[in-house]
Amino acid sequence: ATPVEPPRAPAGLGRVVIDPGHGGQDPGALSVVGVREKDVNLAVALAVARRLRQAGAEVLLTRQDDRFIELNDRAQVANQRKADLFVSIHADSAADPAAAGFTVYVARAAQGPSCAAAEELRRHLAEVGDRDRGVRRADYRVLVRTSCPAALVELGYLSNYVEAARLQTEGYQEELAEAISRAVVAYLRSR
Ligand code: ZN
Repeated sequence: ATPVEPPRAPAGLGRVVIDPGHGGQDPGALSVVGVREKDVNLAVALAVARRLRQAGAEVLLTRQDDRFIELNDRAQVANQRKADLFVSIHADSAADPAAAGFTVYVARAAQGPSCAAAEELRRHLAEVGDRDRGVRRADYRVLVRTSCPAALVELGYLSNYVEAARLQTEGYQEELAEAISRAVVAYLRSR
C-alpha cells in the first residue's frame, strides 16, 4: 500500500508577517552602488517568505511588489490577522561611510517574546553578517503599532561600499534570508 501523506496543519508553526520596508514612491536609503533599499528589502523578504512556507509556517507579506504601504497599514496586517510574529526588513544608511553591520530593533517597551525573537534574529544573522551591532531599542512605528511580538532587522549599511556591494548580490540576499527564516522558525518552536 502507498503510505498517505498526512495533510500539513494550516498554520503548523505559526503565522508570520514579513514586512519589506519602504516601496513605491518611498525608495528608502539610496546606496553608494546604486541599489535602492526598497529593492533589497523586498528581495530578502520574498526569499524569507519562501523558506518559511517550506518550513510549514503561514506567511503574510505586507507587500509583494514595488508599492507604497502606510506604516500603520503594515502593523494592521499583523493585528487583523492575529499574527504570532511581525518582522520588518530594512537596510541602513549613515553619513559616516565606515558605518557597518547589522542591527535588530525592538520597541522601547518590548517584553519577553519580542526580545526572544530579536535575539534569535541577532544570533542567526551573526553567522552570515560581518559586524553584529546587537539588539537595540527604538520606537519605530511598525514596532509600536503591532500587538504581537515584533522586531525590525537592519541588514547592513547601504552607505558603506563593501556592504552595499554585497547587499545587492542574490547570493548574500539568500544567505540573509536563510538566517532570518531559521531565526523565525527557532522562535516559533520555542514558544
Ligand atoms: Zn528602511
